[in-house]
Amino acid sequence: MALTPEQRAEIAAQRNIPQQTSRPTVAAMEALLFEPIDVLDHGFIRVVDYMGNDGAIVQAARVSYGTGTRRVSEDAGLIRYLMRHRHSSPFEMCEIKFHIKLPLFVARQWIRHRMANVNEYSARYSVLDKEFYLPDLSQIATQSATNNQGRGEVINPVQAQEVLEIFRRDATKCYQDYEELLSPEQGSVARELARINLTLNMYTQWYWKIDLHNFMHFLALRADPHAQYEIRVYAEKMIEILKAWVPHTAAAFEEYRLGAYNFSAGMLKVLRRLLEGEAVTQENSSLTKREWNEMMAVLGRSSS
Ligand SMILES: Cc1cc2nc3c(=O)[nH]c(=O)nc-3n(C[C@H](O)[C@H](O)[C@H](O)COP(=O)(O)OP(=O)(O)OC[C@H]3O[C@@H](n4cnc5c(N)ncnc54)[C@H](O)[C@@H]3O)c2cc1C
Repeated sequence: MALTPEQRAEIAAQRNIPQQTSRPTVAAMEALLFEPIDVLDHGFIRVVDYMGNDGAIVQAARVSYGTGTRRVSEDAGLIRYLMRHRHSSPFEMCEIKFHIKLPLFVARQWIRHRMANVNEYSARYSVLDKEFYLPDLSQIATQSATNNQGRGEVINPVQAQEVLEIFRRDATKCYQDYEELLSPEQGSVARELARINLTLNMYTQWYWKIDLHNFMHFLALRADPHAQYEIRVYAEKMIEILKAWVPHTAAAFEEYRLGAYNFSAGMLKVLRRLLEGEAVTQENSSLTKREWNEMMAVLGRSSS
């Protein structure tokens, strides 16, 4: 990640503005406010604002006149209850705003999360920086044989280096052409047109604001092993931010979402039969082979 000295000075100046407020704040969030957290080779996440804390969830759930909080254990218990029963509206009372720098192909997945507010850097207005994502050699892998949307075996380092050089060569060439098109010698082509040949690994930036309920929905989908590595690493860093911001909520989220699995009605029947010691197989259950395999994997049992 390459922040200019001017950008660093702006962040430092913003961090030094003393604030006085009666609103609830979170010491751990104040400590990380505005600071960029590196992700991938040039990307970052910065928290630029947040509203609410664990107490705000409890306060809304109790529709309280004061803070609404009682003993820590009672508040944590209430948050766990709300999470367990998907009583989600109290979580919508908290909001967080990020400044994120991310490759275009990651942004394309990210933007599908519609319950957020976004304002993106305009490449019609400004010239894009010469920064493109190049995967680490350890991330260059073959097409997965089992998951049509995923990666399989890591390619050997010699071949991976060649792949990397192709990524680098193409991105560099396209960026050179972009610069040429923008130059007066090439007629100063409009920025909105000059950009159309750029590669998907170019970085973009946006401000992204979301409420806590939808933020956790985003994290559950994008921190999941099924999500592409390049978006997953952002989600994983954001889970650390979640823990700093709303620790009781983050613990309940890990318990009832991240570490949990939804059993279908058919799966529950299988589970009950297994608990009764019955010899259940995929064939004598109502589950498809895929459902069976998923269930056995979750239970840590062999599929056969
Ligand atoms: C591993 C993975 C693979 C994926 N693969 C593909 C793919 O191949 N192709 C593809 O197109 N997408 C793909 N997606 C994107 C996925 O289908 C969702 O669009 C994305 O995850 C956003 O989820 P969401 O709609 O629940 O979130 P949000 O847009 O944030 O919405 C949150 C919730 O609000 C509600 N909501 C929002 N908007 C509407 C609406 N208009 N109508 C009704 N309810 C609404 C829904 O309950 C929704 O769950 C993939 C996502 C993941 C995580």
